[in-house]
Amino acid sequence: MPAVPVALAIRAGWDPSVAWVPLGPCYAPLEACAPRLGNRVDRFVERRDCLICGRPGRSVYRRDFAHEDVAAFLRSRAYPEGFFDETGEACFELLHCNSCVFLWQAHVLAPEFEKSLYDEYLDMDYSLEKKEGASFSFRCEGFRHAISAGLFCGDRPRDLRFLEVGMGWGLWTFTARAAGYDAVGLELSDRKVAYARQRSIEVISDLEGSDERFHYVHAEEVLEHVSDLGSFLPPVVRSLRRGGILFATVPNGTRLNAKLPGSRWKPKKLAAPLEHINVFSRDALVRLMAGHGLEPLSTRAVAANAVATARTLGWHRALFRRIQDHRKGTKIFFRRAR
Ligand SMILES: [Zn+2]
Repeated sequence: MPAVPVALAIRAGWDPSVAWVPLGPCYAPLEACAPRLGNRVDRFVERRDCLICGRPGRSVYRRDFAHEDVAAFLRSRAYPEGFFDETGEACFELLHCNSCVFLWQAHVLAPEFEKSLYDEYLDMDYSLEKKEGASFSFRCEGFRHAISAGLFCGDRPRDLRFLEVGMGWGLWTFTARAAGYDAVGLELSDRKVAYARQRSIEVISDLEGSDERFHYVHAEEVLEHVSDLGSFLPPVVRSLRRGGILFATVPNGTRLNAKLPGSRWKPKKLAAPLEHINVFSRDALVRLMAGHGLEPLSTRAVAANAVATARTLGWHRALFRRIQDHRKGTKIFFRRAR
């Protein structure tokens, strides 16, 4: 185990006695996992208009769910037998908005099935193993990010309230708490919520009625999964204090938006059917957030924060990694207007 980052983490206030410890399999109430097929066609909803500007999208790729290219991807999931037998007009179709440089899937799971996707249809054991078995450098990255987030907010950790939306198993929320913040999580999957609560992570059930509570909102690899961004984002932004920071990361879809899928393109993780339903270019993400009153922080502000983080941790390589992250355009800090 590399000893130096541990020493640095402890120097920065990390308490190793409360480190993330796997506690065995995750438990979920059985009733939460019962497959519900419902009316077959109603399992899908259609999104023809751009989620950012509202203009009609242009269809650039269309395959039935039964097409081998799509079916090959779906077989790796745990959809109930017959789930894709009668889908009506629903298929794997990508629409594009030239104006926003944004791609999205037209047919996505209806809200009541969207929840099942993350409780039943995906390989939860694999997902959990990936997080519990994460490398030491991955965990250090999460810790470094928590420090960086706190420096943006500029106060003592115990006075700062953090929210992680789409927290998954809660690893980052846990890390942020270990760094001293008052951090809570929000998550759709009952199994993940149960797992996080077993580890004493505070999970809130919704943001209704929430008003300017948080100094910082962490949205890591979430927005690409959200079917209705117009309903999802307003309460998240409202929960942020004026001048507060929202950090968003999404898979980098800039290249796929520039060179749209041709006839020989096959569905891949970047646009995973029914999962990565929004494929953002950097500009699209900035434009989406601007519509909700969030401005990206300047390169200068991000670089200054990276220097402060590197100083705090005594870990100067972090400085260069932060600047590289920023250039990749998939990890952006936004500030809510005052
Ligand atoms: Zn658009």
